[in-house]
Amino acid sequence: MKVISTISELRTALKGINKIALVPTMGNLHEGHLALVRKAKKCADCVVVSIYVNPLQFLPNEDFNQYPRTLSEDCKLLQNLDVDIAFVPDDKILFPVKQKILVLLPPVADQFEGKFRPGFFRGVATIVLKLFNIIQPDIALFGKKDYQQLHIIRLMVQQLDLPIEILDEEIIRASDGLALSSRNRYLNDIQRIEACHLYQTLNTVKTDIQAGQNRFASLEENAVRVLKTRGWSVDYIAVLNQVSLIPAHPEDKALVVLAAARIGQTRLIDNIEILKS
Ligand code: AMP
Repeated sequence: MKVISTISELRTALKGINKIALVPTMGNLHEGHLALVRKAKKCADCVVVSIYVNPLQFLPNEDFNQYPRTLSEDCKLLQNLDVDIAFVPDDKILFPVKQKILVLLPPVADQFEGKFRPGFFRGVATIVLKLFNIIQPDIALFGKKDYQQLHIIRLMVQQLDLPIEILDEEIIRASDGLALSSRNRYLNDIQRIEACHLYQTLNTVKTDIQAGQNRFASLEENAVRVLKTRGWSVDYIAVLNQVSLIPAHPEDKALVVLAAARIGQTRLIDNIEILKS
């Protein structure tokens, strides 16, 4: 595996390669990331994994400085999976001067995650577009863990006519159901035990909807109440149409419930897809 930090070296290494797959990450890799890498290996001649903690997607009060950076462990994991290139640029490479051109996103980017993290998706879309332009992959892979992010990236690719196929991957979870996340390491032992209740609450909503409940607002309220009673502070729990990410209609067949909630200082996101018969 080549570990490359500059754009010119990367472009040289990628010259003449037929099919390139990109897996963009912020590092501190876990099985969720590795599932994307394994899928990428099956679809391309050359797999590039980018590792970069993107300052554009953090608000001033968020965990940018604290975010775990574990480059040498990450490289070992990628080497074991026979990844071709780890692209590990630093701030000076990606942002030699202040980034003044940012991607303008539609209103869906101001809801749910975007409402609680203003500018987050603009930062994500801008770095992803930069990586797309630098690497020019044929395929790029994203996890359903960040469901709204996946939706926005697909929209950007469609609307900006980017010649890139976007593939997704299911959420990889710990045995108790907690979605794997680099931020799980912020949880203390007691919080880690409690953390699986976010997924359990989403599962209850799913069971209720599949049993025929279609008063989604009251299901959302109920789920928020359950988590609050357990000591969580909840940003949102929203039952949405899977394709449009607008609030679900009782007739919709494919739904998704998005959730974000804080336990102690740690903010977790999760979601669950629901198909109705
Ligand atoms: P991150 O490093 O958190 O920016 O994530 C990089 C990519 O890995 C994104 O496409 C995420 O959606 C994906 N990802 C993170 N955690 C998981 C997980 N538990 N299961 C599946 N994909 C994940």
